[in-house]
Amino acid sequence: MTEIKPNARRAPWRKGSGEMDLGLQDKVAVVTGGTSGIGLATARLFLAEGAAVAICGRDQARLTAAKSALLGNAAEKRLLAVACNVLDKEAVAGFAGAVEQWTGRCDILVNNAGQARMSTFADTTDEAWREELELKFFSQIHPVRAFKPLLDNSDTAAILAVNSLLAYQPEPYMVATAAARAGAQSLVKSLAREFAPRIRVNSVLLGLIDSGQWERRFVARADPSQSRADWFAEIARTRHIPLERLGEPDEVARAIAFLCSPAAGFITGAQLEISGGTSRHI
Ligand code: NDP
Repeated sequence: MTEIKPNARRAPWRKGSGEMDLGLQDKVAVVTGGTSGIGLATARLFLAEGAAVAICGRDQARLTAAKSALLGNAAEKRLLAVACNVLDKEAVAGFAGAVEQWTGRCDILVNNAGQARMSTFADTTDEAWREELELKFFSQIHPVRAFKPLLDNSDTAAILAVNSLLAYQPEPYMVATAAARAGAQSLVKSLAREFAPRIRVNSVLLGLIDSGQWERRFVARADPSQSRADWFAEIARTRHIPLERLGEPDEVARAIAFLCSPAAGFITGAQLEISGGTSRHI
């Protein structure tokens, strides 16, 4: 078992120098979908902040690549990479068991694994609806169930759900994803009440973030002569993003790290929008 120092109960971010320390040193963080995009950036930041990090993903090649990318920043004993589909309840229980065996602890759970489905109501089959609802709900439910006993033993436990602005602002070209996102957001809010005061539960609501998903869409673009910069600029223009660009995975990772850290100790049931100003509601 890797020895990670136990949590400090005092507020560790008070340094007296005006500098903000998130207090993530020696925490144990689990990031689902930690092999690409936002999850990979989050795992990298947690490691840089001194936490031990366990990541999962389905694809073994991506896991291996992520592991070697992340080990540039950390000693091997601070990183665990496990192949696991978050929709497979047994596999998620196995992942939690591996983390327990590894450190005996879990302070932070980031439910990030997933993807979006672009379809209107007319072209979403019943099967597609079921798949989308299963992904958005059970990518939260399975990890929460599996890691809750470990989180219950932490003095600074936090769960973070990676969600989309679509939860509040549906778009007709993503009808099933938007509906499922709204339901998942309701779940997160309920968990924040049910798990208080022991475990804080927050979420981030994302606009468009330049991650693996968008890289794959760029590669499959209709006009292969269009440059990367022009293709992304056009997306930002057609989606009316006030900050005129997509977000970077690192920009999401910093928000996640804060919400999961002891520095955010009085924040639960909150959602932080990271969208370049795309939302229209108040
Ligand atoms: P990426 O495709 O770059 O990363 C997705 C990660 O999730 C990969 O590590 C992938 O690995 C993993 N993953 C996907 N499905 C599963 C599964 N069933 N079990 C375990 N791991 C899985 O995408 P992003 O970084 O953009 O996505 C991260 C989250 O952010 C997703 O939930 C996404 O829906 C959400 N989001 C992203 C937005 C964006 O604009 N980028 C906007 C709104 C929300 P593998 O495929 O090997 O399993």
